Amino acid sequence: MFHSSVVKAFLGLSIVTACGACGSDGRLAEPGSATGMNVLIVTIDTLRADRLGCYGHTGARTPTIDALAESGLLFEQATTVSPITLPSHASIFTGLVVPNHGVRHNGTFKLSPDATTLAERFSASGYDTAAFVSAFVLDRRYGLNQGFTDYDDRFETTIDAGPGSYPERPADAVTARVTDWLRARADARRESPFFVWVHYFDPHGPYEPPAPFAESFSEAPYDGEIAFVDNELARLIDKLRDLALLDDTLILITSDHGEGLGDHDEATHADLIYDSTMRVPWILSNPRLFPNGNVVRDRLAATIDIVPTLAALTGLEPAGPVDGIDITAAPVAGRAVYLETLAPLLDYGWAPLYGLRRIDDKFIQAPQPEYYDLASDRAELDNLYEDRKDAGGLRAELSARLADWPDAFEVAGIQKELTRDELERLTSLGYVTGQAALPPGTRDPKAMMPVWHRINEAGRLSVRGEHAGAIVAIREVLQLDPTDGKAWSIAMQIYDRAGQSTEAETCARRALQLRPTSGVWVNLARFALNRGDLATFEGALAEAQRLDPQNGGIHIGHGHADALQGRYDEARKEFETALRIDPVRSGPAAREQLRRLDALLESRADDTKQ
Ligand SMILES: [Zn+2]
Repeated sequence: MFHSSVVKAFLGLSIVTACGACGSDGRLAEPGSATGMNVLIVTIDTLRADRLGCYGHTGARTPTIDALAESGLLFEQATTVSPITLPSHASIFTGLVVPNHGVRHNGTFKLSPDATTLAERFSASGYDTAAFVSAFVLDRRYGLNQGFTDYDDRFETTIDAGPGSYPERPADAVTARVTDWLRARADARRESPFFVWVHYFDPHGPYEPPAPFAESFSEAPYDGEIAFVDNELARLIDKLRDLALLDDTLILITSDHGEGLGDHDEATHADLIYDSTMRVPWILSNPRLFPNGNVVRDRLAATIDIVPTLAALTGLEPAGPVDGIDITAAPVAGRAVYLETLAPLLDYGWAPLYGLRRIDDKFIQAPQPEYYDLASDRAELDNLYEDRKDAGGLRAELSARLADWPDAFEVAGIQKELTRDELERLTSLGYVTGQAALPPGTRDPKAMMPVWHRINEAGRLSVRGEHAGAIVAIREVLQLDPTDGKAWSIAMQIYDRAGQSTEAETCARRALQLRPTSGVWVNLARFALNRGDLATFEGALAEAQRLDPQNGGIHIGHGHADALQGRYDEARKEFETALRIDPVRSGPAAREQLRRLDALLESRADDTKQ
C-alpha cells in the first residue's frame, strides 16, 4: 500500500530522471511535485559556494551538505542579489530585488508590512511556520518575522566585541532550538506540514570555530566555521530522520552572500559585488524528488528564485509579482540578474555599486565601470570594459532598470554635492580640502579598500587599548577621506575610549552630518550631559528616538540624567525599559546602570543610618 505522498514522490522521481536524462525541455522538477511536503530553508551566513566540498573545494569538510547535493539539484552558478545580510534575506523571502522591497542596508531599513513573504504564503496555506535566526541584524524589529508563528531571535552574545562584530549565537545552540521545536511538534502530533527557516551565522567573521574544528582548521579557520555548521546541520538532519520526516521534507541550502577573503583586496563583504561575495550555494534536496544528484550548469540561479521555485513545487497559489523565476522550469535564455550594494554610499559616502550578472558575464556600474567574461575569467581579474563599453548590452539594460527606481542618494538622504558650508567646516577642522574633499558618491569602492583596512585597523587598536596608535590611524583615514561618515563615527569611539571627550564630540557632530545614526546621537547626548548641556542632550536623544525608537541607549541616557538629578525611581524605570526593549544592544549597559543605582542607594541608606 502506498501513501499518496509516496506515489506523488515516485511520479516526481520518474519525471526528474527522464528530464535529467533527456533534457529536452530543460525542466528539472514538475510543478506541484512537493505538494504537502515540509519545507526547510537553511541560510548559512557568509558562505562562499566555492568553500563547499560539493562545489569543488578540496579542503572542505562538509559531508552533510555534500550528501544533500547527492540527492538534489546543485546549481553551479548561483548569485545572491545583495552582499548584505538583511537586504539579501529580504530578497530570499520576497523574491524581489532590493529596490523593489526597499531594504537597502542592515540596521536602518525594515521590511514593509505590505511586503508578502514566503512565510506568510505558507502560513496562509496551513503550514506551521518557524524561524531560528542567529544574528541581531535579523532581529524581528527588521520585519523578516512576517508570517512566522515562531520567530526565535534570542542571541547569546550582547557585548560589542569591536568593529565588525555582531550579537550572535553559535550553530550548536541554534540546532538545539530547532530540534526542540521539531520534537515538541511531534509530541503534539501536528498533522500539518511545516515551513522552517534556520539561519546559521558562524562563518561570518571573526573566524573562531570551536574545538575540535579550531585545531583541525588552524590554518583555515573560515573553513573550520563552515565544517562546524555542517556538523550541526547533520544533527538537524538526523533529527528529521529520527522523526521520520526526512523523506517528506524539501530542503534548500543557500547563503545570503559570500566572503572576500582577500580577493580584490576585500576582507569581508558588503562593499563590492564580485563573485567572491555574490556567488552562493543553491542546493535543493529531497531523496524522493531527486534520488540522484544533478549538477545544473545550463542556467544562472539567483536567491530571488527561492520564492517562485518553492511556491511552484509545493503548489502554492501564485502571489503578486516577483523578480525571480521557478528555477526548475526551462532555462531563460540571456537572463540577467540585478545586483547592488548601497553600503559604500550609506556607510562611507563612496559610490554605490550596481550590476547585472548573466551566467557568463557581468557588468558593474561604478566610477570606473567593469565588464567581465566569466566563462574565461571566473576570478574577475581582467576588466574588459575599455574594449567593450556596451558590456554586451548589459550597460544599456542596467540603465533602463535603474530608471524605474528612486535614486539611491535620495533613498539615503545624501546630497550629491558638498555645500560651501561643509567645505568651510572641513577646512576649519584641519582636514585637507580640494582633491581630498570629493563630494559623496564619487569615490570608487574598489579603490578604497586600503582605507577600509586602515579604518578597521584603527578600530582594532582602540578596542585593544592602544589609543595613540588608533588615533594616528583614524586621523590618517580622515585626511584621505574627510567625507567618510563611518570613519568619523569610528573616530568618535576611538577618542571616547581614549578619554578625549571634546574630540569625541567633534567627531560625533561631523559623523551626524554625513551619516546620522541613532547610536551616534545617543553618544552625542552623553557627551553633552557630561558637559551639563541639557538642551543639546534632550535634542540629541529626540533625534535618536526619531531614527530608531527601539534603541535602548535612549532610555539609558534619560535614566542617567534622572539619576544625576536625584530622580532614582524614574532612572530605574528607564534602565529597565532599555533592558526590556533592546536587551541585545543595551542589556549590558542597562544592567551596569542598575547595579550602580543599587550601590548608590545602598550607600545613601548606610549614610542615613550613621
Ligand atoms: Zn550575512
